[in-house]
Amino acid sequence: MSELEIRGRENGTVVLPGRTVEAFEGNLSGRLVHRSDDDYDEQRAVWNGMIDKKPALIVRCVNADDVVASVKLARENELLLAVRGGGHNVAGTAVCDGGLVIDLSLMDEVAVDPETRTARAQGGAIIADLDAASQAYGLATPMGVVSDTGVAGLTLGGGIGWLRRKYGLSCDNLISADIVTADGRILKASETENPDLLWGIRGGGGNFGIVTSFEYQLHPIGPDVMFVFVLYHGSRRREAMRAYRDYCATAPDEVSSWAISGTVPATEDFPEEIHGERYLNIGACYAGSVEEGQRVMEPLRELEEPMVDFSAPMPYVDVQMFLDEDYPDGFHYYWKSLYLESLDDEVIDSVVTWAERRPSLLSTVDVWHMGGAISRYGAEDSAVGNREAPYLLGIEANWERSEDDDANVAWARQCFADLREFSDGSQYLNFPGFYEGEDEAMRTTFGNQYERLVALKTKYDPTNLFHLNQNIKPDEKLNR
Ligand code: FAD
Repeated sequence: MSELEIRGRENGTVVLPGRTVEAFEGNLSGRLVHRSDDDYDEQRAVWNGMIDKKPALIVRCVNADDVVASVKLARENELLLAVRGGGHNVAGTAVCDGGLVIDLSLMDEVAVDPETRTARAQGGAIIADLDAASQAYGLATPMGVVSDTGVAGLTLGGGIGWLRRKYGLSCDNLISADIVTADGRILKASETENPDLLWGIRGGGGNFGIVTSFEYQLHPIGPDVMFVFVLYHGSRRREAMRAYRDYCATAPDEVSSWAISGTVPATEDFPEEIHGERYLNIGACYAGSVEEGQRVMEPLRELEEPMVDFSAPMPYVDVQMFLDEDYPDGFHYYWKSLYLESLDDEVIDSVVTWAERRPSLLSTVDVWHMGGAISRYGAEDSAVGNREAPYLLGIEANWERSEDDDANVAWARQCFADLREFSDGSQYLNFPGFYEGEDEAMRTTFGNQYERLVALKTKYDPTNLFHLNQNIKPDEKLNR
């Protein structure tokens, strides 16, 4: 094999001798994907169609040894490095131009221990893998609401879903992890081994190494749960959202819900007469018995006169897949977020105003009810920043064509800037935009946790090998 040009950490080009690439490839149990391979385009594609990055090499790892070898190759040759779990990061950080991608998506096994109510998921598993294995025993751990999202990126960034107010974030249920650090060691992160690392990967992102295995606490759920999914008329959004806020003020932790402003798509899932109508959607799941859920969440179905109501008891795994089709691979996406200090009338007015201005009918403005178990974990438990906020604003620009990129990105940024006054500026870093204004956003988001994260980064990744992420930079002074 002839030598290979690959992008280095500092923008320059590194020339890897052919024998280095051959030796590396020969020792892999998985597969090395080259630019010349027939399926190169398939392997480099990620969920967000806005991302079109062309790595020089993609390592499709099948075990921790492959990950260790890849980390060593990247470190020793100072290569630009991206890490891929489920490939669903909206900012497309799972791939890079010209560099090396360590892809864990073939490592998707899940093993459940019903006795201890725990599950182990490999670093490339997706939510559907974990839910299916856990629900076989009537168990689940909090994950996100679209089932093909990777558990890795989701957990490392926090993880909010339908069980959040009862059982906390995904990372709150992370008991331990096996992690390959920048120096090529495989470390256990748990309450007893490297507890500082466990603290950091609970919310601190992919900064500290590559997780090959996550161990989660499971909880009894389902198999059926009560799910509310009702659409109210767009003309009554303000009124419905006020009533929703009043409901949330006393809602028990079993209820995790949201209020989403969008437009009814012209699909057979919805009656034809409401296609193209603006809506306020209330979605909610009850982490408890179906009967109790029906009773406790009934008011959410009567906030106003519903346009259509799909609420019903349903298998938990179906709830987890309910929205899958709304987020097709290859569409264009740009999401931002802000923790909100309240949902008072002024905030509601702003949310509705920005929902009315969406350039794409696929876009939504989302208000997630937070609190409950999320706010009962503290600074010592995890790196997660703002746990006190009662609501999270999600600004989802979703559209189909490249020529509409500018208008949609501009809308999301303007909405973010306008609602900033109702927030302390902290963001949910799994809905990150493209990491613009990164340093300031990181400091604001992690608040008092930030300096501790910098110290941890300096300890475990002093050269910032893992930097294509929501990056915490090592302290150069401490490094010397
Ligand atoms: P990837 O793009 O594969 O990875 C993202 C980053 O995570 C990488 O750049 C790397 O830094 C790090 N990483 C990935 N794998 C590893 C690993 N094994 N070890 C170390 N670092 C790793 N979030 C929620 O909280 N709740 C939701 O309900 C929710 N819904 C979503 C729905 C959709 C359709 C999408 C696209 C995203 C959603 N998200 C949600 C956001 C989601 O949590 C993030 O996009 C997350 O980054 C996805 O993880 P991934 O493994 O698929 O990402």
